[in-house]
Amino acid sequence: MRTLPFDKAKLEELSSRWPTPFHIYDAKAIRANAKRLKDAFSWNKGFREYFAVKATPNPHIMKLLNEFGFGSDCSSMAELELAERTGNTGEAIMFTSNDTPAEEFRRAWDLGAIINLDDISHWDFLLTAIGADGRSFDGRIMCCRYNPGPLKGGNAIIGKPEEAKYGFTREQLFGCDAKMKAAGVSRFGLHTMVASNELDPDYIIDTAKMLFSLAGELHDALGIDFEFVNIGGGIGIPYRPGQNAMDLAAVGKGIKAAYKELVEEKGMKPMRLYMECGRCITGPYGYLVSRVRHIKNTYRLYAGLDASMSNLMRPALYGAYHEIVVPGKEESGTTSVYDVTGSLCENNDKFAVQRVLPVLERGDLVVICDAGAHGHAMGFQYNGKLRSAELLLEEDGSVREIRRAETLDDYFATLDFNGL
Ligand SMILES: *Cc1c(COP(=O)(O)O)cnc(C)c1O
Repeated sequence: MRTLPFDKAKLEELSSRWPTPFHIYDAKAIRANAKRLKDAFSWNKGFREYFAVKATPNPHIMKLLNEFGFGSDCSSMAELELAERTGNTGEAIMFTSNDTPAEEFRRAWDLGAIINLDDISHWDFLLTAIGADGRSFDGRIMCCRYNPGPLKGGNAIIGKPEEAKYGFTREQLFGCDAKMKAAGVSRFGLHTMVASNELDPDYIIDTAKMLFSLAGELHDALGIDFEFVNIGGGIGIPYRPGQNAMDLAAVGKGIKAAYKELVEEKGMKPMRLYMECGRCITGPYGYLVSRVRHIKNTYRLYAGLDASMSNLMRPALYGAYHEIVVPGKEESGTTSVYDVTGSLCENNDKFAVQRVLPVLERGDLVVICDAGAHGHAMGFQYNGKLRSAELLLEEDGSVREIRRAETLDDYFATLDFNGL
């Protein structure tokens, strides 16, 4: 059973000010985790985590992570804007996008971001987008996203690399780096992202090995010294009971050994290690707090919450498992088996299917765990649902609203009833 950073009394107090459902993040735990990650890679001079903004695109969370020197991994106009407005510009932004529109390349360029191309055709597209005449790549760092295809075994979630829409083939990578070098680019990085919600440290270590080796081959072929390799995100979290969190220290150690063998002992110039994790940074430290609205007993027993999949889409989207805690009833010996649902007119609007929980009653508080990444962020307004508030639990126990709940006025703001 999970231990929560708040008890029932605290949640009741909060819900009198912020009606359920709401998301709440644990600042202390996020900080401790950020420090753990930094420490694991302190051996690498210039190591940087670029927080994948899409996981939890809230300025207060981003600002908190900036305390640890984290950069921002962005892939859209709004995310670039969020990064800038929370204090990250220039090479503190990694712009890793795909199917990119010209205006986003322009914005990323103007911010001085590290532009990470997803496709070989995007080099010419970028030149046009930024109006390369009169622009100089002098001093600008360029990066390409490698897709190893069949050269790397699949990750359970992201699937086989050769079926993923992202990145360059090996041949294209060599071609594009050569082309960029000929065009005057003198600073290079190398990127890949082949994992999602991966819990095996070796998979992450192998990814780093793959990039170190590739940087060596590109160096030999093209005379490029890569300043960094970015191993992407994809470190998983233990959503299910019995799973273990990734041992970040072990990953750090494993990558350090690979670095020694494949970079130092090969006489290559020092490289900075970058990563762009989202899920493992905030995921376990965010909670969706909801209340039982109805209990329904038909062919199955249903607990209907005041939250729905518009607050947390992962169970409906991926069949993902999220632990559910019923504060005040943790020790309760009497249980029942529930489908825990929301109120959307979609039968997959279920937070849990056939889950053993303490016997529930109307009004019970229910906490859905591991909602700190890709939770509120994936919210939507289908069926007229409104996005909830986001709260931050500070280290001193105080709670701050970091995003207000949407109102019906927000919902109607884009509609026009004139002239009907
Ligand atoms: C989603 C994403 C990440 C973060 O992935 P996590 O699984 O949240 O760590 C990093 N980089 C890119 C390019 C992504 O699309």
